[in-house]
Amino acid sequence: MILGLLKEHGKETRVALLPETVKAFTDLKVEVLVEQGAGEKAFASDADYEAVGAKTVSRDEVFAKAEVLLQIQPPAEGDTGRIKDSQVWISAFNPLWDTTLVKTFLDKGITTFSLDLIPRTTRAQAMDILSSMATVSGYMAVLEAAAKLPTFFPMFMTAAGTIRPANVLILGAGVAGLQAIATSRKLGAQVQVFDVRSAVKEEVMSLGGKFVEVEGATEDKAAGGYAVEQTEEYKKKQQDRINEVAAKSNVVICTAQIPGRKAPLLIPKEAVDAMKPGSVIIDLAASTGGNCELTKNDETVEYKGVSIIGQSNYPAQKPVDASRMFGKNVLNFMKLIIGEEGELNLNFEDDIVKGTCITHAKELYNERVKSVIETN
Ligand code: NAD
Repeated sequence: MILGLLKEHGKETRVALLPETVKAFTDLKVEVLVEQGAGEKAFASDADYEAVGAKTVSRDEVFAKAEVLLQIQPPAEGDTGRIKDSQVWISAFNPLWDTTLVKTFLDKGITTFSLDLIPRTTRAQAMDILSSMATVSGYMAVLEAAAKLPTFFPMFMTAAGTIRPANVLILGAGVAGLQAIATSRKLGAQVQVFDVRSAVKEEVMSLGGKFVEVEGATEDKAAGGYAVEQTEEYKKKQQDRINEVAAKSNVVICTAQIPGRKAPLLIPKEAVDAMKPGSVIIDLAASTGGNCELTKNDETVEYKGVSIIGQSNYPAQKPVDASRMFGKNVLNFMKLIIGEEGELNLNFEDDIVKGTCITHAKELYNERVKSVIETN
């Protein structure tokens, strides 16, 4: 197989494979073509890639020669026109959200695998880019909040008096939320947490957070570990409790999401009105509408002294470790589609291969994407 590693576009600083992971591919008898400058922003030079057996070439050559194309971000404008129907494209296409792109893949007959669709099974854990990137985001969200806050996170007992610890509210205790709890606790803050999945209560408590219970949440085992839409009655009860806790919090970290849908609105404008000036809201759900009504994606909004930070790509601020984790996940996934002689071997009998595929031979493979397209 010839694997083509593309340079990312826009503000992205990560690269899908660092040289250390390229080495693992060459050991599997895969030929790797790297677009010149692909690793620059993650501190990996062309020479570093050449040193582990890759060939660095122009973007045109990657598109012309690779059998499998790899990049983190969905294609830049014009790129879908360059890809041939014989090629396989692996990326994080966000197809539950961007269904237009899926229709283009179907029309062109391209084989696409979206790494953000990796099933949430034990065997697939080592391939889960969403978990890896959520770990970076949860950590970075807390660091940014701590830097921005006009007060300290920990309690300080000094000769000048006692400083009270910051109160942090975390909405959603998935991978990012749990990392945010752990990081906030390490910095000495007091942490309260909301989630609609009661299963996370023990994890929250074991990390030193307080789980705020709201009875009556809808849970669905068939949702594969994800949250589902809640009833109006539950939303009202939850809103009242969140408003109460938010008003006493210095920091709110929003991580609540429902795959393929707009993020749930959990911090309406009235809740921000009740917060203390100087408070900070970090909204990790910004790219799908945000958990806070005032959030603007990739912007910081200042409202009555409260900063609302809608950062949706924290992993790009830690490009080396984020690329390292992403690359390891890609390698673990691609081992499922690489044959003994390094050839491409698409085995759709494998549930992870089938579950991660969006389109193949002009057919829509992924059931979740199918249902989103049908209900749109
Ligand atoms: P996510 O990013 O989809 O959502 C973040 C959190 O927000 C979730 O915990 C969700 O329950 C919560 N949430 C959604 N709506 C909410 C609302 N209205 N109010 C409060 N909270 C709300 O989730 P995620 O981080 O991707 O993880 C979801 C689950 O999947 C976790 O239990 C995680 O441990 C599990 N997981 C399993 C695997 C695996 O087995 N391979 C891999 C990764 C994650």
